[in-house]
Amino acid sequence: MNKNDITAIKALLSTPKNIVIVCHKNPDGDAIGSTLGLYHYLKQYHHKAQVITPNDYPKFLKWVPAEDSILKHDTQTEASDKAIEAADIIFTLDFNAFHRTGQMQSVLETSTATKILIDHHQEPDNYATFTYSDVTMSSTCEMIYHFIAMLEDTDKIDSNIATCLYLGIMTDTGSFRFKSTTSTTHRIVAELIEKGAQNASIHNNVYDTNSYNRLQLLGCALTNLRVLPELRTAYITLTQNELRQFDYKKGDTEGVVNYALSLDNIIFAAIFIEDKQEGIIKISLRSKGNFSVNEFSRSHFNGGGHNNAAGGRSETALDTTIEKFLSILPQYKDALNHV
Ligand code: 5GP
Ligand code: MN
Repeated sequence: MNKNDITAIKALLSTPKNIVIVCHKNPDGDAIGSTLGLYHYLKQYHHKAQVITPNDYPKFLKWVPAEDSILKHDTQTEASDKAIEAADIIFTLDFNAFHRTGQMQSVLETSTATKILIDHHQEPDNYATFTYSDVTMSSTCEMIYHFIAMLEDTDKIDSNIATCLYLGIMTDTGSFRFKSTTSTTHRIVAELIEKGAQNASIHNNVYDTNSYNRLQLLGCALTNLRVLPELRTAYITLTQNELRQFDYKKGDTEGVVNYALSLDNIIFAAIFIEDKQEGIIKISLRSKGNFSVNEFSRSHFNGGGHNNAAGGRSETALDTTIEKFLSILPQYKDALNHV
């Protein structure tokens, strides 16, 4: 995003507009934080703003300021489509390609609104009028901070905006411990606390509201953990039956893959979760160092993401998916042992 883009966006936002803000399917903390952070900012300029998510999100995100104003496209399709069709501007946040929005893809593609992409995933599609893409960024929330700074408007950051942006930076950096966390990230986070983000209660809302069943499901996942020391890889499986046994709720498996990655000497971790409803195996991949799970997922599992965190899917059964995974791995033996 260059100076001309910023000047043009400033001009665009100088009069009240109909603005829609969207994120990817199965929104996480960064998706909800960035969309609502931007929402609170735009509201200060009396724009008509509406956040639309493709579908619902976990309970541990249902406290964020103005979260109850969000439209969910899968259950509120008519109202969502109407808002998208009436939009002058659509901000697309925390994703790189329209297919990441699931069923929203077609209505977004046909919309003639000015599109502004802000995202930190690799290889963004070229659909937007204004693209602010930076794969080195910890989170889209950190980019929203920079975006507001480029508009010379950090004075406008109030406690609502600060709370939202803190949330997404916290969740996407694994609480400020991943490599993408820079000194700038910490400076921004410090400023957000000064502007009213209640850091301890945000952590509590996201991480310390577990149900007993969720912890039992984690126990089950850890029991299913398999380790391949010679390939420095560990993986976890969860069947639909296991999810049912522990009364699975959206978000219950979030972060579970990180336990596999926390093993000494392991640099590649995966979790395979059976989703009979969608007829797929949902895959989450994580790595340390140079081993790119983005490339691995793009090449073999129909997904992508970042170098050290990516998602993917498989349309075959869980056991055949694992067989495929195990058969592919040996070709990466050198890469996995030279990180
Ligand atoms: P997760 O494993 O938590 O679902 O995803 C890890 C990261 O990869 C997140 O930043 C997520 O947005 C991204 N991601 C997940 N699935 C896909 C996918 O199919 N394509 C792309 N490009 N990114 C994905
Ligand atoms: Mn993100």
